[in-house]
Amino acid sequence: MNTSLLQELCEARGVPGQEEAVRRIVRRELNSLTDELRVDPMGNLYATFPGASDAKIMIAAHMDEIGFIIKHIDDKGFLRLQTLGGFDPRQLFAQRVLVSKIEGGTVPGVLCYATKPTHLMTTPDKEGPQLDQFFVDTGLTLEEVKNSFEIGGMVTLDRGFTCCGQGFAAKSLDNRVGVFVMIEALRKMSKCQFTVVAVATTQEEIGLRGATTAAYQVRPEVGIALDTTIAADYPGGTPEGQVTTLGGGVGIKIMDGSLISHPRLVKQMREIARHHDLPHQMEILPRGGTDGGALQRSGAGCAGITLSIPTRYIHTVNELVYASDVQAAIDLLACYLNQAETGQIETAELQLEE
Ligand SMILES: [Zn+2]
Repeated sequence: MNTSLLQELCEARGVPGQEEAVRRIVRRELNSLTDELRVDPMGNLYATFPGASDAKIMIAAHMDEIGFIIKHIDDKGFLRLQTLGGFDPRQLFAQRVLVSKIEGGTVPGVLCYATKPTHLMTTPDKEGPQLDQFFVDTGLTLEEVKNSFEIGGMVTLDRGFTCCGQGFAAKSLDNRVGVFVMIEALRKMSKCQFTVVAVATTQEEIGLRGATTAAYQVRPEVGIALDTTIAADYPGGTPEGQVTTLGGGVGIKIMDGSLISHPRLVKQMREIARHHDLPHQMEILPRGGTDGGALQRSGAGCAGITLSIPTRYIHTVNELVYASDVQAAIDLLACYLNQAETGQIETAELQLEE
């Protein structure tokens, strides 16, 4: 597995609307596979692989990570934050961040909670932590802060990538691992009968926004999103609520909060996985959405599905995936695309029966 590429993707910084650094990496990688690359006004990057048929399979993997932008600089130089994406405030204590400077580059900062120091507390805090009480201390003087930062500047959690047991831990495996799966599956794709449009999308974490406009442009017959999903197979979870397990293989999504996958696509994916002995698990995620929901509902609609990479501790700095699940996701997508080449998969088959 090309771990160094996954690491590079995870350590790149990109909150919704500011995905440039991630897009540069994706563009570099896809450039070696096709000449047909373009970027739209939303920042979505399209890589087209023309096939004999005009029928299109669109793949979507979002580039953005949850993070912050600077909302306010106070008169002591502390930075107040606007969150972009779904943070659990309990996971934000004792974190470090990187703050983008006006002229480029970053400055480290510590993420702090607006409360009395624990030494000075007499009664424990009754309320749970509130997201809007976090601020950033860069240790710079007020003048330095004013010269370095501006409202809207990006602030991301600072945590390196590490190989961890059977897999990897990093801050933004959601969804750089999905982007990685897309790139690696395209490398394994032989010529596809259908036109394949792979899109690295933007602004998923705040409502599937990039994929919505991208699917409107592409108008695919089949839409496949790649994303992480919850693996709550650790203390605190329940067997019926774990959604997926690490090491259980690629998740074939039956539904999430944004999407009910097309039943025939679910069946095809499961049959391909069985045929090729690829570890897989069926996934039902009661809440939360993926780009698959945007693809399915674009224009007049298309047959949509999401393939998932099971991930523990999603939306924390220590998201954790297993290499075997990542590989299974790459293999299943590549097998699907290559099978489409042989004509074994007809988009016409995807009409639901009366
Ligand atoms: Zn995601």
